[in-house]
Amino acid sequence: MVTLKINGTEAVVAEGATVLEAARNAGIYIPSLCQHPKLTPFGGCRLCLVEIKGLPRPVTSCTTPVSEGMEVVTTSPTIERLRKTVLELILSDHPNDCMVCEQAGTCTLQELAYEYGIRENRFEGERRIYAKKDGNPFIERELEKCIMCGRCVKICDEVQGVEAIEFGYRGFDTKICTSFEDDLDCEFCGQCVSVCPTGALTGKLWSKQGRKMGVKEVDSTCPYCGTGCTITYHVKNNEIIRVTSNDDTPNEGLLCVKGRFAYKYVSSPDRLRTPLIKRDGLFFEAGWEEALGLIAERLQGIKAEHGPDAIAALSSARCTNEENYAFQKFIRAAVGTNNVDHCARL
Ligand code: SF4
Ligand code: SF4
Ligand code: SF4
Repeated sequence: MVTLKINGTEAVVAEGATVLEAARNAGIYIPSLCQHPKLTPFGGCRLCLVEIKGLPRPVTSCTTPVSEGMEVVTTSPTIERLRKTVLELILSDHPNDCMVCEQAGTCTLQELAYEYGIRENRFEGERRIYAKKDGNPFIERELEKCIMCGRCVKICDEVQGVEAIEFGYRGFDTKICTSFEDDLDCEFCGQCVSVCPTGALTGKLWSKQGRKMGVKEVDSTCPYCGTGCTITYHVKNNEIIRVTSNDDTPNEGLLCVKGRFAYKYVSSPDRLRTPLIKRDGLFFEAGWEEALGLIAERLQGIKAEHGPDAIAALSSARCTNEENYAFQKFIRAAVGTNNVDHCARL
């Protein structure tokens, strides 16, 4: 363990921790845009600058490891002036269209601009403008809003292991892009969207569906597979308009393309809402009692005529453990056969 002083108060942290981790551990706020607990340090946004006794100039706390006896100051007039200038430089080339931005209300950059009271741009110069040409079906990329924090690149590489995007070009021309700037063609897990601290990456399906006002957030379990990731539905006018997941869930906020983007079926008019019974090759809508009665009658008939092993049942890996348990119990105990399996045994 390492003992250091942060703003005059003693803190004890594990060896190898960064100054930023030590400060946050002690409940001390340091702003940052590029740091994320799931990712290795990057030191790109320069907002987490702190003063360390004995060092000639401020250093980024996210890339500086703690050392025994270190004395850290996380806020001072100099530090606050530097942070404000860093933010002003970031915003000097940023389309301030919070009024219509999908991320407004949950944007870290917007929140920091508010915190540091930045209204006007005192820097002038070239601005980045990109042609919109990404035909991918899920992720809206507004690169003018990108602040080069690198979170998307790192989560795609370090967590998802896909490496679909990278920093391309150099200097002012640097941008986040795919190889040869092709349309994004990846797993579409949306992890990059979930960690983007601005509105540079959002969901195409979210566009103009609603932001915060009138939106209720409901925690639930993803219905797609037995992993059962915890998700949060954003609901407006009784319709799901967005799916997110929090870092403090068992799935650590990570989802796959189905959980994150395939939610429109819930209110699809094509969805089956009643059982269908097939008669003379055609399906007819039926009530549950009628359908379940027919199933029971047919299973009893087959069992009486050919024995229980003439019946086999397939369950689903999309069901919960409890549902699959109840299903196999029914097949073994009520029907009387061990011919029961599920769709995950591909
Ligand atoms: S990314 Fe954030 S700061 Fe930029 S326009 Fe959108 S809400 Fe505003
Ligand atoms: S959606 Fe997933 S796989 Fe695709 S770029 Fe983002 S993190 Fe990488
Ligand atoms: S797209 Fe978002 S996450 Fe990626 S570098 Fe830009 S601001 Fe950061």
